[in-house]
Amino acid sequence: MQAANQSETAPPTRASTGNVVIRTEDIHKYYELGETRVHALRGVSAEIQRGEFVAVMGASGSGKSTFMNILGCLDRPSSGRYLLEGIDVSQHDKRKLALIRNQKIGFVFQGFNLLARTTALENTELPTLYAKIDKAERRKRATDALALVGLTDRAEHFPSQMSGGQQQRVAVARALVNRPSILLADEPTGNLDSHTAVEIMEVFQDLNDRGLSIVMVTHEPDIAQFAKRVLVFRDGKIRKDETVLDPPRAAEVLKTMPTLED
Ligand code: ADP
Ligand code: MG
Repeated sequence: MQAANQSETAPPTRASTGNVVIRTEDIHKYYELGETRVHALRGVSAEIQRGEFVAVMGASGSGKSTFMNILGCLDRPSSGRYLLEGIDVSQHDKRKLALIRNQKIGFVFQGFNLLARTTALENTELPTLYAKIDKAERRKRATDALALVGLTDRAEHFPSQMSGGQQQRVAVARALVNRPSILLADEPTGNLDSHTAVEIMEVFQDLNDRGLSIVMVTHEPDIAQFAKRVLVFRDGKIRKDETVLDPPRAAEVLKTMPTLED
């Protein structure tokens, strides 16, 4: 029988290569809330290649965070499959998900979630405590990660001694310290002024140039434009999937933006 139902969310037809980092197949997610059942994802199929920089957009409640939590192995789909670097993790238990998450995923959230009485370097080092590596190697990885986000000269600063943008860059360094395959960011610029937000996009574009795959939720078109691809969610489905042909360089845009001191 021929496939009669070619909906916008039909499973991706692009041939799978070894470069697929993320593949979701008809994912549904239900939340049970007492008597009611929320159908948060309603058949989400997507494929993300290594080296992509994807912005996820959509109204509040459209399922963006639910999708990100599944991609990040913080939660499991109710049905459908999720393959992370070719491995089906949809049936993994919590312990196995935590292991995979620690090896393959870096997370950045809207709030920076840094420890207050802990320096930038120590904050960055935290996720390495679970990895089986010695102290010197941990320190080296944290130092390298801080350098990647341009914060070498702030290594000994405490969060209260840094700007919001610097704190978010520490959070990005911390997300990178275990050398993940993919960086997931849920509204990473939500708490930042527009100039600082574009500075974070400069960091993301730099990391993406170095080959890091990035998926970022944002509700701001001005921020989404820096990605190479935009997925738009509505009512738990992907309604649009667009390639951005020539994204502006954040570093160039910054030169045209007034700073807070101006
Ligand atoms: P977005 O990030 O796009 O704002 P979410 O993925 O957070 O959307 O939410 C999608 C839907 O699922 C919403 O209707 C929301 O209320 C519901 N939802 C999200 N998380 C939970 C939860 N832990 N328990 C119950 N319902 C939830
Ligand atoms: Mg959300």
